[in-house]
Amino acid sequence: MTLHPDVEKVLISQEEIESKCKELAKKISEDYAGKIPIVIGLLKGAVPFMAELMKHITCSIQIDFLDVSSYDGVKSTGKVHIRRDIVTDVLNRDVLFVEDIIDTGLTLSEVMKEFKSRGARSIEVVTLVDKPEGRTVSDVTPKYIGYYIPNKFVVGFGLDYNEIYRNLPYIGILKRSVYEK
Ligand code: 5GP
Repeated sequence: MTLHPDVEKVLISQEEIESKCKELAKKISEDYAGKIPIVIGLLKGAVPFMAELMKHITCSIQIDFLDVSSYDGVKSTGKVHIRRDIVTDVLNRDVLFVEDIIDTGLTLSEVMKEFKSRGARSIEVVTLVDKPEGRTVSDVTPKYIGYYIPNKFVVGFGLDYNEIYRNLPYIGILKRSVYEK
């Protein structure tokens, strides 16, 4: 595998991500056995993770996608805005949000408040990556976490920098020179 020239180093390899997805899917399948959760991916970053994860979920699921924005470049703007809503009714349903990464937790905190008010029966979160040092809210505790990473800006496997690098098959640390230009 050739490393993208803008990437300083690989933090989580493709193989590690794939085996982690199997492990997370196993737990999710056990926890939701006999239920039909609505698995909601947060666009666009969660797409590769959701695709890899759902292949290994063995219980019945429905899927949908929500597009919210909070980031501009490498900094959280602190404002969450729904750009594209889901089309499924979540009233009395079990909702599982799929996130690529959680940093401040602000995005999910706002999204979870909204979905509670829509009457979801249960709301849980699966995230591929968690940056707990970045957390500024206390009400976001994902039930399923792939990896904990330090407070660095990462790209790849869905994660972008100004919409680029989402297609990298691994998660890597971007060279500072790329965003300090
Ligand atoms: P939060 O609201 O938890 O601060 O941020 C969640 C969203 O911010 C993620 O879905 C992701 O889009 C973006 N984000 C947070 N940390 C990073 C990072 O290290 N790299 C990239 N590419 N996006 C990030």
